[in-house]
Amino acid sequence: MQGLSVTGVTKVYPMPGGRELTAVEDVSLQLEPNRIGVLIGPSGCGKSTLLRMVAGLERRTCGEIRLNGRLVDGPGRDRGMVFQSYTSFPWLTVRENVAYGVKINGDSLMLQEGVVEHYLERVKLEHVADAYPHQLSGGMRQRVAIARTFANSPELLLMDEPFGALDPETRWQMQELLLEVVHKERMSVLMVTHDIEEALYLGEDIFFLSSHPGRLEAEIHPQFKQELAGQDRDAMLAHPEYIRLERQIRRMMREQGQPAPADGGEQPLKLLRL
Ligand code: ADP
Ligand code: MG
Repeated sequence: MQGLSVTGVTKVYPMPGGRELTAVEDVSLQLEPNRIGVLIGPSGCGKSTLLRMVAGLERRTCGEIRLNGRLVDGPGRDRGMVFQSYTSFPWLTVRENVAYGVKINGDSLMLQEGVVEHYLERVKLEHVADAYPHQLSGGMRQRVAIARTFANSPELLLMDEPFGALDPETRWQMQELLLEVVHKERMSVLMVTHDIEEALYLGEDIFFLSSHPGRLEAEIHPQFKQELAGQDRDAMLAHPEYIRLERQIRRMMREQGQPAPADGGEQPLKLLRL
């Protein structure tokens, strides 16, 4: 089985006083190779927890996660993670930061072949390659983290709200860069966002999680973007199908923020396909 498969994954956190919190409940999803998957949902619905389980940074309580057939059991080189906060090594230059993972993996061959220079160029940081992170803006530092992850050519790139702290202009540039690099390098991406426009712009498979507990409530596979190939973002924003999906996701987000119905009855899980 190629791609990422998440089957019946649940995460229960022990809480003080012997209570338990089910952060993610019985989530199953499939991401084919070379696709961009997006996890979206209200704050606290378990997006980061699910992503960390895929990264192998968090143990699952039950269920199974496989990447290209291999069972995920801890972090691995086949997966690269980009966090929301800018994670770079302050004592290393930009170039050394990007080379870091490649070096610890012992790929002197890749270093010789100029992988680091290639990705510095892709994220438009060649001109600051010898600077230190504290000399850069937030957006530039996030590009360092992204270039470092790309340079390790993971099969699956995991990103947790990677552009969340960037100003809108930089955020757009980074989204475009991500689309470009991912499609050229043929890697898969699973990213977390709570931004609906970002989800619809980047996502080919969008998974909506409901909160408390985080369950997969809807899957969205926007088809209309194929018609828009080569057109700019404004064309997407004006497309009737974009407007319909944006409204629908916004409504689901809002409903998640509402208290449960008065009868308290458990709703049977029904997976929506929008
Ligand atoms: P999201 O990323 O969607 O905002 P999270 O995955 O961070 O949500 O959190 C989901 C739920 O799990 C929240 O209720 C959060 O408080 C809880 N949670 C997350 N991490 C831990 C942890 N290490 N210990 C206990 N509870 C946690
Ligand atoms: Mg989160």
